[in-house]
Amino acid sequence: MRQLLEEYIEKNRAIAVQGDVADYIPELRKVPINTLGATVATTEGDVVAAGDCSTEMTMQSVSKVITLILALIDHGEDTVFEHVGMEPTGDPFNSIYKLEMRREAKPLNPMINAGAIVVSSMIIGRNVEDRLERIMDLVREMSGNPDISYSREVYESESATGHRNRALGYFLKEHGVIEDVENVLDLYFRQCAIVVTCEDLAKVGLCLARDGRNMDGKQVIPRDITRLVKTFMVTCGMYDASGEFAIRVGIPAKSGVSGAIMASVPNRMGIGVIGPALNKQGNSIAGVKLLQDLAREWRLSIF
Ligand code: GLU
Repeated sequence: MRQLLEEYIEKNRAIAVQGDVADYIPELRKVPINTLGATVATTEGDVVAAGDCSTEMTMQSVSKVITLILALIDHGEDTVFEHVGMEPTGDPFNSIYKLEMRREAKPLNPMINAGAIVVSSMIIGRNVEDRLERIMDLVREMSGNPDISYSREVYESESATGHRNRALGYFLKEHGVIEDVENVLDLYFRQCAIVVTCEDLAKVGLCLARDGRNMDGKQVIPRDITRLVKTFMVTCGMYDASGEFAIRVGIPAKSGVSGAIMASVPNRMGIGVIGPALNKQGNSIAGVKLLQDLAREWRLSIF
């Protein structure tokens, strides 16, 4: 398995130069464009890593999966989906367009920025630090890595330049969807800056693949919630390329603008990928191709 993973990584690394590293968050520019690595963690307990798998990255939008889980634990399905919808948008992740066009300012789903900001506002805690700690605790439990923390540099970099997200936040505040907008945005920027490796992402994916049980066999998320978030990963996890990804790869997955991809193959494995060169939709250009190769080779499609 390791040799195959290595071969596919080297094959796809060449594609990376066709993409671009996200630069609207200045700190994200610092990673070499041809970085590509992956870790696979299987239900049998094997952890196989290859390429630049130990390069650290921030979770960015992958954190949206974690906050959705936590909001569902905190409030239950009915309350969460009163505030955020269940439909893919077909628009870019940070689009404000549909929010303004619809009768109620209810974001279409929790995987776009507007939806994720609403979800973050629902996390219970005394203050921002407390809420962030709960989010990081869940990542720690899912990944089995007690050292998970966040990058102050990336957080500050996005906090200083995240004008579009501020616009979304204030739009939502104007419509009474969220209240404490600066604190909510502060939490959102921090959760996006949580630092992980491919192994952490693979184990988070594995925990979902095992219906909420982590590597130690501990049930850290209720099973129903894992079904729900995996479904969102299929319908909206890869931005406005989710349809194509479902057809070509067929695995529940969530990407982030750092080039992170967390994929979860039910009852089989979790896969964590780093590949910071992005395609037009904001997905790792080489990472998507790598997953496509692996899905074909190992027959991973759930469909
Ligand atoms: N922090 C990023 C933003 O809100 C996350 C976007 C992403 O990874 O899709 O712009």
